[in-house]
Amino acid sequence: MATEHSRVISRNQVRIDCRALRHNFRCIAESVGNGVEVMAMVKGDAYGHGMAETATVLAGCGCRNFGVAELVEAVALRRAGIDGRIFVLLGFLPDEADQFVHHDLTPVVFLDQDIRALSRAAEDCGREIGVHLKVDCGMGRLGLLPVDVPSFVQRIDELPGIHLAGIMAHLPEADQRQATSTPLIFSRFQELVARLDSDFRGIRHIANSGATLYCPEMHCDMVRAGISLYGCYPDGGKGDEVAASARLQPVMSFATRVAQVKDLPAGSGISYGHTYITTRPTRIAVLPLGYEDGYLRDLSNRAEVLIHGRRAPVRGRICMNLCMVDITGIDGVEVGDEAILLGRQGDEEITADEIAGWMGTISYEVLCLFGKNNSRIYTDETL
Ligand SMILES: *Cc1c(COP(=O)(O)O)cnc(C)c1O
Repeated sequence: MATEHSRVISRNQVRIDCRALRHNFRCIAESVGNGVEVMAMVKGDAYGHGMAETATVLAGCGCRNFGVAELVEAVALRRAGIDGRIFVLLGFLPDEADQFVHHDLTPVVFLDQDIRALSRAAEDCGREIGVHLKVDCGMGRLGLLPVDVPSFVQRIDELPGIHLAGIMAHLPEADQRQATSTPLIFSRFQELVARLDSDFRGIRHIANSGATLYCPEMHCDMVRAGISLYGCYPDGGKGDEVAASARLQPVMSFATRVAQVKDLPAGSGISYGHTYITTRPTRIAVLPLGYEDGYLRDLSNRAEVLIHGRRAPVRGRICMNLCMVDITGIDGVEVGDEAILLGRQGDEEITADEIAGWMGTISYEVLCLFGKNNSRIYTDETL
C-alpha cells in the first residue's frame, strides 16, 4: 500500500516541454515581426497541453493575447492569473454579458443580441467594452455575412458602452499552399475593412497558423496561432524553406512503460478478435495503455511505438487499457522500460502527424486526445 507521502502516478504520461513551447512562441513572434501581435489559441485545453499551464508559460515570455472558445474558459484563465487580453471566440448567452465587463474579457460578436446585451452590461457598470466583429468572408462557419456588416457596425457605433475594437475573419484552407480560396477570402476581408468608417481604430486579424507561416501578406495587425505554437505544421509537413524562419519544435510527448514481455511461437493470435497471427517466433511487449488513454482502436495493427530507440509495430487490437507491440529483434527489453507513443527516443521520432496519418485524422485531434485523457507533467522549472 502506498504510504501517505508517496505520490502514485499513472505509467502513461503526457509530457509538455515548456522550453519548446516558449521557443515556438518566440519563433512565431519573430517571424511576424514587431507591430504584429500574436494571439495564442489556447482553446481545447490548449490543444491538450493544459490551458492554464500553457497560457502561464506563454505569458511568461511576453504573450499578451489569448483565444478561447467559451466564456467559461476565459474566466478560468483570469482565475489562473492571466492578465492579458482574452478573446472569447464562440459567443455567449445574453445573461452572461456582465461577465465580460466583470473579468475584462474581449467578446467576439456576430449577433444583434450580443451587442445589445454587452451595451446594457457595460452601461450598468459605467464601463466601456471593446468588441471584435467576426465576419464570415467565405469560411462558411461562424460570423456575420459581409453584406450585413455595415449596418451592424452602425448599430455598434450607436449603442452606448461598446465600441468596435477589431474585426476578424477565418480561412478554411490556409494550410494548403495552393488553395485559391485563401487570397479570395483575404481580398474580401480587406475590401470590407476598407469600407469601414474612417474613424475605425481597431485591429484586423485573419491568419491562423497556415497563413502565419505561408502568407506573410495576411498577418494584418495580429495572427492567431494554434497548432504552430504546439510545434506542428498545419499542412503536416516538417517545415520547408517557406517556414524556415520558424523552426517549430514538438511540445507534447507521450510515454508509457512495458508491463510484460513474452515470447510466442508462430501461429499465435494476439488480442481480441485475433486480428493478428504471428508468422514467426515473436517477442511481444505488453503496454498498459489503450483507447481509454486516447490511444484509439483505429491504431490497431497500424501504429508503431519506440522502445530502446527502435520502432515496434502494434500487433492486434488495441484494448481499453492494453496493447501489444512486436519487439522481435530489439534486444534486452525489460518490464518497466520506457515506450514512446509520441515523441523522440534515441535517433527515432514519432510525430503527431505520423499518428494522425495512421488514424486518418490531423495532428490537432491527436494532441487533444492524448492530452485530455492522460495526466500531464511539465518538464520545465518555470511552472
Ligand atoms: C483554432 C483557431 C485558430 C488557430 O488555428 P491553427 O490552425 O491551429 O493555427 C485561429 N482562428 C480561429 C478562429 C480558430 O478557431
